[in-house]
Amino acid sequence: MAPYLLAMVAVASAYHFKRGRTCLVLLLSTSAYYYASRYGSPGLATPESVLVHQAFAVLLPFNLLIISLMSEKGIIGSAGRMRMAFVVFQLVIFWITLQQGSQTLWAVLTRPIVQSRLFEVHHLPQISLLLLLLAAGIIARRTWQRQSPLDGAFFGAAIAFGLLLAQPDTPYIAPVFNSAIGLIFILAIIQDSHNMAFRDDMTGLPSRRALNELLRGLGSRYAIAMVDVDHFKRFNDTYGHDVGDQVLKVVASRLMAVSGGGRPFRYGGEEFTVIFPGKTAKDAAPHLEKLRKSIEEYKMALRSDERPKDDVKGQVSRTKQYGGRDVSVTVSIGVAESGGRYASAEEVIKASDTALYRAKNGGRNQVCLAGQR
Ligand code: GH3
Ligand code: MG
Ligand code: MG
Repeated sequence: MAPYLLAMVAVASAYHFKRGRTCLVLLLSTSAYYYASRYGSPGLATPESVLVHQAFAVLLPFNLLIISLMSEKGIIGSAGRMRMAFVVFQLVIFWITLQQGSQTLWAVLTRPIVQSRLFEVHHLPQISLLLLLLAAGIIARRTWQRQSPLDGAFFGAAIAFGLLLAQPDTPYIAPVFNSAIGLIFILAIIQDSHNMAFRDDMTGLPSRRALNELLRGLGSRYAIAMVDVDHFKRFNDTYGHDVGDQVLKVVASRLMAVSGGGRPFRYGGEEFTVIFPGKTAKDAAPHLEKLRKSIEEYKMALRSDERPKDDVKGQVSRTKQYGGRDVSVTVSIGVAESGGRYASAEEVIKASDTALYRAKNGGRNQVCLAGQR
């Protein structure tokens, strides 16, 4: 019962958060579980159990690979419905072959590719192993790039499918692993929705909302730095908004590497905040100076199609004008500390904003401490 219950909860939350790919994987794994527990026999002794095992040894890895290649398109839209129809269509074909007791299709599909014992993992057909390895590779890469919990859950599903298919007659393996799959997806969806609320999608930095949460639980001593990209409007006008976005990602990656225990956030637009718990503005200053320098020194290479087009009005090639293909930006930073005149974190932020304003007026690309001339 547990696998069905968990799958139902997982599907309900996937539906709520419009995670169509998750629904598809759960539909397939739960169908597989249903038929395996209904027709399964120790050692795959009956024709039905062989048919069910072979069919899902194809359907699970094949669809997981397809799903790992897809981008999330929701459930209700036309793309989501098409995908659902495609999976249901395959399940109907399976159902028809099961009613007719016809093993041919699945036996052909699961035929060994190479005749070697090396590629035999218990009951796992070679094609299933190949598809699962491909899917796992793609999913692992995606999980790494996007740091997304749901992609992590798909990876878990790939491993669980492999083990389930390889050892269909190990007692309790099916209910335990299918429960685990449901549970992994439930946890991943919770984590994923938390990330959606508290993480900025473009830069991967914690969002303004996460900043407000942190500020609420902060002790009495801390420093807050406001970081603003210099002349970013001009940068966008010159290189375009897309290149601007790329640069913001670079700035964000530098911010993530800030030393001194600083915790970076995207405050909004091209403005960022770094919180230094337990530090004074003076303590934080050398770390901010290091950060400022690391951003100034970072050169981003433009792909040729991103380089600015010729300026029609001035008839000057901007590529020449800006000399070469590397672009870079600088940032100005203002920092203030808690205590003294400031009663709340909001006031500290205001003070660091004033310091930032001074840094801009002082010629940009510099760090200014609040309350200093
Ligand atoms: P200053 O040195 O005084 O900060 O000049 P600035 O041009 O950076 O100042 P301002 O705050 O007036 O301009 C911010 C610009 O940043 C405006 C907007 O076009 C750009 N911007 C804000 N958010 C984004 C974003 O997410 N992507 C891109 N590409 N540009 C953004
Ligand atoms: Mg600004
Ligand atoms: Mg700016």
